[in-house]
Amino acid sequence: MTRFTYLRPSSLAEALEALASPGSVPIGGGTDLLSTVDEGLLAPARVVDLQSLPDWTQITRGADGALRLGAGVAIATLAEHPLVRELVPALALAAASVGSPALRNMGTLGGNLAQRQRCWYLRRGVACFKNGGEQCAAYAGEHSYHAIFDTGPCHAVHPSDPAVALDALDATVEIASARGGAAGTPTRTVSIAALFEGAAHNRAREVTLADDELITAVSIPAAAHGGVQHWEKLIQRAAFDFALVSCAAVRRGDGSVRISLGGVAAGPWRAPLSVEEDVASGGLDADSIDALAERALYDATPLEGTRYKVTMAQAVLRRAMRALGAE
Ligand SMILES: Cc1cc2nc3c(=O)[nH]c(=O)nc-3n(C[C@H](O)[C@H](O)[C@H](O)COP(=O)(O)OP(=O)(O)OC[C@H]3O[C@@H](n4cnc5c(N)ncnc54)[C@H](O)[C@@H]3O)c2cc1C
Ligand code: SF4
Repeated sequence: MTRFTYLRPSSLAEALEALASPGSVPIGGGTDLLSTVDEGLLAPARVVDLQSLPDWTQITRGADGALRLGAGVAIATLAEHPLVRELVPALALAAASVGSPALRNMGTLGGNLAQRQRCWYLRRGVACFKNGGEQCAAYAGEHSYHAIFDTGPCHAVHPSDPAVALDALDATVEIASARGGAAGTPTRTVSIAALFEGAAHNRAREVTLADDELITAVSIPAAAHGGVQHWEKLIQRAAFDFALVSCAAVRRGDGSVRISLGGVAAGPWRAPLSVEEDVASGGLDADSIDALAERALYDATPLEGTRYKVTMAQAVLRRAMRALGAE
């Protein structure tokens, strides 16, 4: 059994100070962290509980109209909050599709973004590339839920549904550490793409956070609010499940389009700019929509067992284009 101490700081400065000490890890709802300890992926010396931090669960609008979501906002709150549903329905729908009601009530936005991949080799103690070994066990083994883009050295996909919607909404992630400025001031702000950059190559985690860094909030710019927003998640079972393939798509008020896929790469995968621009132009007939969906998947490099995901991704893209009024 792994033994660790527990700290529940009451200020962000205290939390950041605690995380600066080696062996300390943050805990949100604990729905993933405690599993990773149980599975032997992590042996923290101390867990730092974030739930008592001021403003941690706040949803507010800034002077520039941006919607700011505290990192401690529960996934269930994201699914139900009137402002989220009104301004960024793609995120509300993505959050509503996460796991079971219990997971949505316990899980937090920060923890959902920073959760580990669900690859069964990793989670069952196999010494793979992400777990102290050199090779990817899934590559030659069972990999039917794995990636079709930018695959390797790790071929796992990231499980976060909210991350896919946030990618299509051009959200930014506020990150703080004790090395930063005044307490409460983000040390740096990154896009969703930058948060997951290099996830397949990173042995320790999937997000570009240092050990002493915390996600403090996620911000969605006013320009991404409203318009036409679409979310679809394909799952294997008629119950809660991780995405085989998911899609978030947004046509902004200015007509521009953003499309992101989940379940296909080590993080959210944004459609090529030329595809988004063609969807924005509209006037597409059925053949053009088919051709665009094929073009979007042109760079896919599926493994033997993930070829079916290419067909699925094309199908969700076709439906997203129609939902955004591309015809
Ligand atoms: C059976 C099952 C089904 C699931 N299905 C889905 C699904 O369909 N879609 C989906 O999106 N997710 C799914 N999940 C994942 C679930 O939503 C996550 O476990 C949850 O969102 C993680 O949130 P948490 O607050 O409990 O994170 P925690 O378990 O507390 O933390 C997870 C990780 O994030 C780190 N962390 C926590 N907060 C922060 C922060 N503010 N800054 C930096 N790092 C932080 C922790 O140190 C840890 O490494 C599922 C999980 C399970 C077990
Ligand atoms: S896909 Fe990633 S986590 Fe799974 S076995 Fe390969 S390296 Fe390990």
